[in-house]
Amino acid sequence: MSPAPAPFGKVAIIGLGLIGGSIGLAIRDHIPGTATVGFDADPAVRKRAQERSLTDVVCDTPEEAVRDADLVIFCVPVGAISDVARDMAPYIAPGTMISDVGSSKQTIAASLSEIFPANPVVPAHPVAGTEHSGPDAGFATLFQQRWCIVTPPAGADAASVARLVFFWEALGAMVETMDPKHHDLVLAVTSHIPHLIAYTIVGTASDLEDVTRSEVIKYSAGGFRDFTRIAASDPTMWRDVFLNNRDAVLVMLQRFLDDLSIMQDAIRDGDGDTLFELFTRTRAIRRSIVALGQDDARPDFGRKDHQG
Ligand code: NAP
Repeated sequence: MSPAPAPFGKVAIIGLGLIGGSIGLAIRDHIPGTATVGFDADPAVRKRAQERSLTDVVCDTPEEAVRDADLVIFCVPVGAISDVARDMAPYIAPGTMISDVGSSKQTIAASLSEIFPANPVVPAHPVAGTEHSGPDAGFATLFQQRWCIVTPPAGADAASVARLVFFWEALGAMVETMDPKHHDLVLAVTSHIPHLIAYTIVGTASDLEDVTRSEVIKYSAGGFRDFTRIAASDPTMWRDVFLNNRDAVLVMLQRFLDDLSIMQDAIRDGDGDTLFELFTRTRAIRRSIVALGQDDARPDFGRKDHQG
């Protein structure tokens, strides 16, 4: 058995919101020998990050934050990662590992490899989050028993990939390694399209003329409120995800629209068998997710006010 990779001595976290803050807190709890340094472009976020001790040190400039770091993780919205990385590149030593947590990976893996030709670049995506954002949203257990997908670009150095995998496992995550393009296709269907559907249905309900907004809110336990949680996610983050993962999202969206129109035909034609067959198959998917410990088996996710 090969020895475990060496832990990072100093990790610089750029962007101290939900994900960046959670990484800082999780390192403190799980990798005590690793020092953390944080930076955020917003002075109010830096102040709050300091108050919450999201990282050991919060710096006022990016160059201070990345000095002597052996891992730099970009935790800013997908649309900002390349610009932030380019601005910081002059201050980052060759050999420092570069990573990020962006929700789409192909464009980011390509641009980070281009910006840092002399550094190991190993992008990753922790598939863990909430609908909250900002420096108050982070918590140390966010990654426990959640997947983190590590997406090394072609030709990435195996020892660097192993080191980042070891890092995420130490934070409590289960890690899978995947090609960035395949990651984007998988996440388009498991995350990006569901968010698009949630944003759209909540938008549709709020624009209805024959059903009042107070009726929508009052009877939301009929299913609508579960969409509203997803549709409350950060608008900047999600705008950037759709702009960056355009190709995979459009492929999956077309597939979804085709399937939706089959359901439309079945309802129009009174074809109960088609509806029943789909609804039976989808229950099995839900059961598999619960069986894998990725969600709560209790009715209505264990909410106290569960109603049928
Ligand atoms: P967040 O809570 O909004 O945190 C992002 C932070 O980055 C904010 O404090 C933001 O400050 C700051 N920021 C924005 N532009 C910056 C810049 N140019 N330089 C430095 N800091 C900057 O967002 P998040 O949910 O942590 O998401 C961060 C990344 O994680 C995104 O790439 C997202 O795709 C990915 N991700 C998110 C989730 C999730 O569920 N939320 C899950 C997995 C991965 P301002 O708010 O003041 O702009």
